[in-house]
Amino acid sequence: MLSSHLTAPADGIDSDRIVNTAFLDDYHKCQICHSVLWKPVACKTCEKPYCKTCIDKWLNGKIEKTCPNRCKYEERNCSPLTSTLLAKLEISCIYKTDGCKQILLYDSLERHENQCDYQGKECFGCKQLYPKNFLRQHEQQCDMIKFFCYLCEEDIFQREFSQHLSACLRCRLETMRTEMVDMINKHDNNIKQRLKAAENSQIELNQHMKNLEKTISSTQKNTFYTQSAFWVLLILVIVLFFLGIVLFLSVHDMKDEVKKLSNNYGDMKDKVIKLSNNYDDMNAKCDQRNKLFFWQ
Ligand SMILES: [Zn+2]
Ligand SMILES: [Zn+2]
Ligand SMILES: [Zn+2]
Ligand SMILES: [Zn+2]
Ligand SMILES: [Zn+2]
Repeated sequence: MLSSHLTAPADGIDSDRIVNTAFLDDYHKCQICHSVLWKPVACKTCEKPYCKTCIDKWLNGKIEKTCPNRCKYEERNCSPLTSTLLAKLEISCIYKTDGCKQILLYDSLERHENQCDYQGKECFGCKQLYPKNFLRQHEQQCDMIKFFCYLCEEDIFQREFSQHLSACLRCRLETMRTEMVDMINKHDNNIKQRLKAAENSQIELNQHMKNLEKTISSTQKNTFYTQSAFWVLLILVIVLFFLGIVLFLSVHDMKDEVKKLSNNYGDMKDKVIKLSNNYDDMNAKCDQRNKLFFWQ
């Protein structure tokens, strides 16, 4: 269902769209487009009203700005009378041929036509014009519309999209499953390696513990030997000490003995000297006796 209009017209309104034609006369018309005035402005000199777009087109490119009445053109608002006359007009919607039955007053025409459900809108697939209220229905079936698949990042025709999506989703899920399995295997290997390393560490630790136990027991033995040697040495020292005392006492006694012997020796010496003297005396006496005996 092709629409005849894309947007509301910018120039004047066709006279055949006016419903209450009895009101229509030349005051309503633009001298340039000969249609009913649309958004009119006026020439300040001749006071003739023109559609704003018509007079702008008329003046465009002209060096000397003159209105169609050949007077110097200076723009002003159109007269209140013109506005009042225009406001009384009843006009059919521009999308009448597309099905719109609305008849509107001049002042509400633009607002309606901007929102009219029958205005032509372009289908974003096939670029054809459709009435606004039909466009949605058309776009749901349009063969030219493509949807973007976020899974494979490709544009897919609307008619194939749901089929594509389920296939794409399955494919994606399969990929994810494979990735997950890979990831789990990787983690599994990682955990196994760590367990192996932990076991090795445990073995090393046990070895260290054994070595430590050995060291401790040998240290204990050494300590025992050292303690034994200490006690033996102490006993030896004590024994030697007592022996020393005994020796000292013995030496002391022997010293006394020697002293006594020495004294005895002195006495004996004196006695020997005395005896010797006595012997000498005796000897002398003997000699005297002998002499006497001889002389007799
Ligand atoms: Zn005009
Ligand atoms: Zn003029
Ligand atoms: Zn309408
Ligand atoms: Zn289309
Ligand atoms: Zn896809």
